[in-house]
Amino acid sequence: MPIVHSNVSYKCIKCAECCGPWEIPVSKHECGQISGMLPGDNFSKKGKSSPLVLKKKSDGYCLFLDKNKLCKIHLEKGEKFKPLGCKLYPFELCRWDDGITSAYCRMDCPGTFFPSKSQKESKKIDISSFKDVISDIPTVTAKKYSRRIILDTVRIRAISKAYLGIIRSDKGDLATKLLGCAELLDFHSKPKNSEDLIGAGGQFADDAVELYERSLEYLQDKTSKASVLDIPSRIFLRQMIAGFARRDEEFAISSNPLKRIGRSISFGAFSMGLKDIGAIGNKFLSGPVESVREEEGCSSKAKSGFPRPLPPGIPELLLKYMESRLKTLHFMSKPCLDFTFEDGIRHLICASLSALWIARSAQVQDPMLPIRIVDHNFSASTLFSMPHMRLCRRNICNPGKLPAIISFLLENS
Ligand code: SF4
Ligand code: SF4
Repeated sequence: MPIVHSNVSYKCIKCAECCGPWEIPVSKHECGQISGMLPGDNFSKKGKSSPLVLKKKSDGYCLFLDKNKLCKIHLEKGEKFKPLGCKLYPFELCRWDDGITSAYCRMDCPGTFFPSKSQKESKKIDISSFKDVISDIPTVTAKKYSRRIILDTVRIRAISKAYLGIIRSDKGDLATKLLGCAELLDFHSKPKNSEDLIGAGGQFADDAVELYERSLEYLQDKTSKASVLDIPSRIFLRQMIAGFARRDEEFAISSNPLKRIGRSISFGAFSMGLKDIGAIGNKFLSGPVESVREEEGCSSKAKSGFPRPLPPGIPELLLKYMESRLKTLHFMSKPCLDFTFEDGIRHLICASLSALWIARSAQVQDPMLPIRIVDHNFSASTLFSMPHMRLCRRNICNPGKLPAIISFLLENS
């Protein structure tokens, strides 16, 4: 069975973050195996059609996590009795209908990293232990390129390879590549250009990369001459960032209506540029946060921009991040909120832009942190499936507007 791995590796640092405020679904069978281990009711259900999940303690961690941050199920019964989600974490496995299984390593696990070239082989994730569970996972189909075009998974894979080729190209920097991807997406979103997609095969990616490399000057020129970031784009971008950064608090505030109202007000205030990113609330960003002086930094000519330079290495990490998503196709269909391909690519571009913003505006020491924040929410937040967020993504990724956003975020880096 062919398995596509993401280019991410991990070494568990036993932080128990994976036993935190996530919903851990449990099947009836799993439930039967562990019920009675702890007194009282160990499972809960939000609504009638919602899955059964493990209950949490008041600190937000799983009921089965002991004071030494160890899993009681693992300790007392053995690993095979843990719910499937716990056994797999940080992997997300997907069995596609073209016979390929993909293994994405979720970057919200603090033990994940991008291995260096010399580490690549030695740190390769061994997925063989998951063989049994893979066969139990239902197959999914990529099928929806957009809301208009239905394509098979093989074709979608060929199209995804084109974006991967742009990201991996040795020509151009992060800005050019982001714009190159947005231009390609925009071109194929027009109904008159959809024929290429319907016939996409082995040559599709090579042609797209060649076109990208021939257009380098045009793309660089577009970014360097970008106009001032307009107010609607600024609001859309801020809403997207707020969406990425807010998820970690959802569990903590879910039962308190006042906190929910306060949260919505902070969300709105940040979106309108009235508050900095610290107001949104995110446990990773709970340290001091510098405010972003947008009004000074939105033109390519204005050099004062953000108060902090971009931490070193962020553009390279973001390219590796995009590569890991594109390689596995875990930016669309079931692994990601049932996104279409178009929506997934747009979301990936928005995630990278949001990570750039977080990296420049918050005092993050770890360059991986902005990626962990956007990656976690990539697949988790239902906010991103709302129609309004589609509008945000469209506006942000519009090649007419994107150069100003890129210039705004990458200036002085
Ligand atoms: S979050 Fe990752 S590093 Fe931390 S305990 Fe879980 S698997 Fe290990
Ligand atoms: S069941 Fe065990 S591994 Fe799973 S979330 Fe709870 S404590 Fe963590």
